[in-house]
Amino acid sequence: MPKYTQELLDEAKKHLLKTYRQPDFILARGAGCRLWDTAGREYLDLYGGIAVSALGHGHPALVAAIASQAAQLIHTANYFYNEPNAKLSAKLCELAKMDRVFFTNSGTEAIEGAIKLSRRFHHAKGDVHRQGLVATFNAFHGRSMGAVSLTGQPKYWEGFGAPIPGVSHVAYGDLAAMERRLNDQTAAVFVEPIQGEGGVLPAPAGYLAGLRALCDRVGALLVFDEIQTGIARTGAFMAWHHDGVQPDLLCSAKGIAGGVPMGALLTTEKFAEALPVGAHGTTFGGNALASAAALAVLETIERDGLIAHAKAMGEHLLGSLAKLVEKHPSVAVAARGRGLLCGLELDKQVDVRAVLDALRARGVLVSSAGTSVVRFAPPLIVTARELDEGTAALDAVLAEFASQREVKS
Ligand SMILES: *Cc1c(COP(=O)(O)O)cnc(C)c1O
Repeated sequence: MPKYTQELLDEAKKHLLKTYRQPDFILARGAGCRLWDTAGREYLDLYGGIAVSALGHGHPALVAAIASQAAQLIHTANYFYNEPNAKLSAKLCELAKMDRVFFTNSGTEAIEGAIKLSRRFHHAKGDVHRQGLVATFNAFHGRSMGAVSLTGQPKYWEGFGAPIPGVSHVAYGDLAAMERRLNDQTAAVFVEPIQGEGGVLPAPAGYLAGLRALCDRVGALLVFDEIQTGIARTGAFMAWHHDGVQPDLLCSAKGIAGGVPMGALLTTEKFAEALPVGAHGTTFGGNALASAAALAVLETIERDGLIAHAKAMGEHLLGSLAKLVEKHPSVAVAARGRGLLCGLELDKQVDVRAVLDALRARGVLVSSAGTSVVRFAPPLIVTARELDEGTAALDAVLAEFASQREVKS
């Protein structure tokens, strides 16, 4: 290992909190879907910084927008309007098919905003005790105390004390369970159109429409967490556009500004008065620099037809993953997903981390989801050839794991 890389690793290991399991290399540079580490080794990026690097690395439109905005004006705080944020608010609402937006710095903060807006909406109508929040098991909504309370996986709660009051969970995809849980104390229902972190699990057909009807019946807000599925990821600008079931609140983040930290809470006119002046706020959210980056991402998605591209590339990728399931049935059990959010579920006996390590050794970076799913969330600009390079490496890795299993049994 080069001395410089070793020095950096020593610093990081000595000073960073140990919240992540990070392998011994340091990414330093990127272009398109390629990354290079400090030792000069090249990698194919098929995880996209967890569905964040929508335009890939070093995209000229994004780089130019950030550079020129940085020179012009980075930040004013929300005491004042800023130019790129005004334009972004219109463009995002148009593409997302929502009316109004509150900008944040992360997905978690968009979820927190949705919790506060939904409770405050009922409170303002005099329904002061309507504070119940229902989410689904296996969901992921973030890590703050509010968002982690909604996150339906006990491993994320452990040791942090009581969740925020009024939160409960039901099985994902189970409308009957949701119907039993909802009542006149339910403020809002939170759901991902595809459970991303939970293992790339798409909602069953009719589930979102069923939730819409249930929420309307009891007067609860329907919140879609599209932090991972939004911004063209699934081959529609928002995943809900596929079947037209509109939420009351929509949380976005990840790909929205191509890697510059940003999130957004969107809503319809009906709920616009729920957070009046002073009721909610943020210092950084929607600042000029992040807004200019997001505007460049959204304009590039439109101009370059990246929604249709994500759909076509996603079909190509899912086809390749389905072939791997046929070819390696002892290690790969299912392929699923939509657009460029796809997962290959491995047999429970296979260590998904070992598969990621083996892929990395072949120069391909992907991530895992759930306990046994290899997740692909590449930049939206990915080409069929790049996807084929990644699935060929996965083919070789699965062949190795399959033959090891035969030797053992
Ligand atoms: C990543 C993610 C979050 C949390 O977003 P952060 O930006 O990490 O705070 C919430 N919900 C979903 C579905 C996510 O994928």
